[in-house]
Amino acid sequence: MIKIEHLTKSYGTHRAISDVSFEIKEGEIVGFLGPNGAGKSTTMNILTGCLSSDAGDVLVNGLDILKNPIEAKKLIGYLPEQPPVYPEMTVSEYLGFVYDLKHCTLPKREHIDEICDVVRIADVKNRLIGNLSKGYRQRVGIAEALVGNPPVLIFDEPTVGLDPKQIIEVRNLLRTLGKNHTVILSTHILPEVQAICGRLIVIDNGRIIADRPTDELTRVIRDSRRYRIRVAGPVNEVLAALRGVGGIRRVEAETDRDGEASTFLLESAAGTDVRRAVFFALSEKGLPIYGLEPVGRDLEDVFLQLIENGGELPAEKPAARRRK
Ligand code: ADP
Ligand code: MG
Repeated sequence: MIKIEHLTKSYGTHRAISDVSFEIKEGEIVGFLGPNGAGKSTTMNILTGCLSSDAGDVLVNGLDILKNPIEAKKLIGYLPEQPPVYPEMTVSEYLGFVYDLKHCTLPKREHIDEICDVVRIADVKNRLIGNLSKGYRQRVGIAEALVGNPPVLIFDEPTVGLDPKQIIEVRNLLRTLGKNHTVILSTHILPEVQAICGRLIVIDNGRIIADRPTDELTRVIRDSRRYRIRVAGPVNEVLAALRGVGGIRRVEAETDRDGEASTFLLESAAGTDVRRAVFFALSEKGLPIYGLEPVGRDLEDVFLQLIENGGELPAEKPAARRRK
């Protein structure tokens, strides 16, 4: 449905995206993730034909966005990061205006009414956009994207600036729309897309660093375990002892130290419970454990790890040789 190949864009001397390529199949719901400044909006603006690239191609259903802009753009509904809604128009005036701009041929009144029902703005149809809350205004932006019934929907940070209740509403709306559209959704917040998207494309510093099914990322979260452990003794000795324990993937000393005990963060390989081995390894060296507690993990961590490791997820270790 969408194919982008080797997109590159610079603003002046600043390279915003480099060699970005991906393909999205019909019916997919894809999360486009990355920290602020990663290049999400730039990519989406190019993808929707709102911005030109320096190099690379965008094909929408086989149509080149530059060579067939009118046909290609008809297939896409776009909610930009800053929706260009006019504050001095009422909601229905504005959607009527968008309808005309898009040269829609569907029955006007019914089509707009139907969209207002779907995004739940029917009750504010006759209000001025400028007087609406941010949540409602965002839904007007989503309504605008739906005008003309495009099969592909592209949303740039659709929940930014909304309160938690509005976020849930917009998320539910996106999930509903995902049932019969191809959707690309950008965000810098991981849990946001975890529940909705089947696939995640991660961008950092203008480059794609990962492109995987969402469950592959969540598997890592589910399987790996982290503990915070307090141990009395010289930091270097504790680190050496812990690093010798099989099944531990990562050990880090944290900076806080009270009295003779220091805190360390341990990460075990998938499916491995290292607590016994840790106990024996430390007691063998005469290093007493003052505390051991599990630490929660979320997608945020995995994301940071992806960025640190240039897109690699920690390898899954076979559960076999966990004990001697
Ligand atoms: P994101 O949407 O992921 O936050 P953007 O695509 O907006 O990232 O920006 C990517 C990079 O390009 C950032 O470093 C940003 O500062 C820069 N940038 C974006 N738009 C412009 C612009 N119009 N002029 C100059 N630099 C820009
Ligand atoms: Mg952006």
